[in-house]
Amino acid sequence: MMSSTPETALKPCPVCGKPGQARHAPFCSKRCADIDLGRWLKGGYAIAGETDTEARKPDTSDPDEGQASED
Ligand SMILES: [Zn+2]
Repeated sequence: MMSSTPETALKPCPVCGKPGQARHAPFCSKRCADIDLGRWLKGGYAIAGETDTEARKPDTSDPDEGQASED
């Protein structure tokens, strides 16, 4: 049998899906670790360069806004 078992039994990299590396666990490389960290820091899983409509939606669902108090 010539089964080439991977060196590590780590889970696949959550960023790119490649086999994780122990030194960068659970990522496969520092690069992927940085990518995931970047996402985390942005407070969401928005990929850099894909900041579009979904990110900023004007909240116009407030009926009380603009109502002057007549007293
Ligand atoms: Zn990776």
